[in-house]
Amino acid sequence: MSLSNYSIAFIGLGNMGGTMASNLLKAHANVCVFDLVPQTVAELESQGARAAKSAEDAVKGADIVISMLPAGKHVQSLYLGDSERGSAGLIDVLGQNTLVIDSSTIDAATSILVAKALAEKGIAFVDAPVSGGTAGAAAGTLTFIVGGEAPAYQKALPVLSAMGKNIFHAGQNGAGQIAKICNNMLLSVLMVGTSEALQMAIDNGLDPKVMSDIMLQSSGRNWTLELYNPCPDVMPNVPSSNDYKGGFMVDLMRKDLGLALDTALKSHSSTPMGAIAQNLYNMHSMQGSGQRDFSSIFELFSAQSNHKQ
Ligand code: NAD
Repeated sequence: MSLSNYSIAFIGLGNMGGTMASNLLKAHANVCVFDLVPQTVAELESQGARAAKSAEDAVKGADIVISMLPAGKHVQSLYLGDSERGSAGLIDVLGQNTLVIDSSTIDAATSILVAKALAEKGIAFVDAPVSGGTAGAAAGTLTFIVGGEAPAYQKALPVLSAMGKNIFHAGQNGAGQIAKICNNMLLSVLMVGTSEALQMAIDNGLDPKVMSDIMLQSSGRNWTLELYNPCPDVMPNVPSSNDYKGGFMVDLMRKDLGLALDTALKSHSSTPMGAIAQNLYNMHSMQGSGQRDFSSIFELFSAQSNHKQ
């Protein structure tokens, strides 16, 4: 089915959602957009989207609703309402047979709660968090990690394909969120481990480029060495060679590690490495690096080393 046959509502047009909605427009989908920030709506309107006045307005007649919001509380209140504020949720206005795709990174428990409530009204829901960052969102090469029933996953596929390159069905509702945070917890551990190994090599007089080449051909090989070296000037076009600007912020990694460790607590899983990485990222953020790329954790080790001299 061509995307032009779908009527899509897109809610949350921030750093990620703005360019994701833009890619749907490029794929000739009919897109209606809403965000609390009017400028983001105006930008998408200039690209051909219909601008909605509210989330309720955006979803009128939509076959598919996509949300890309900061955290679980935003997703829950958008769909199920907020009794404290007296606001109703989209659950009261969505038509049956609508598919809801939530691509925000949130706790799995909220995804499951929203999915169950919507299912009671005949509305399908998939959690579909992404990996690939703002660059992947802009290029349409995101990885989507989907949790939900197989028919809902199948229905979501053509829409997700217009915004991403790799699409995985992780399991039932919530599984997308769990898979995403397991991956990001491992990534944080790899980034910390790579940083400390490189710094120890430097402390002992080795060239970090040579050390990186050695590890790339040895058993320490990993994604951070291949594509995202944390030591400045070892690799071109990565945040470490650009004063750790751009990329994936330390505070977003802290958010994901918080979700990962909350999950571990609930499932009684042992995650000592994730806990250490979380502590190091907290410390790094408190020292003023919250808005820098997460590979800047390298400086935590190099700063200590400078201190010794
Ligand atoms: P962002 O803060 O830039 O955008 C969120 C947008 O949601 C904002 O424009 C905000 O105004 C809007 N919003 C909030 N509540 C709303 C509501 N009730 N109705 C309408 N709009 C509302 O965040 P982002 O960087 O785009 O990230 C979105 C999600 O994607 C987060 O869960 C984040 O963890 C995840 N994520 C981000 C990255 C990244 O590199 N930025 C990478 C992977 C995943």
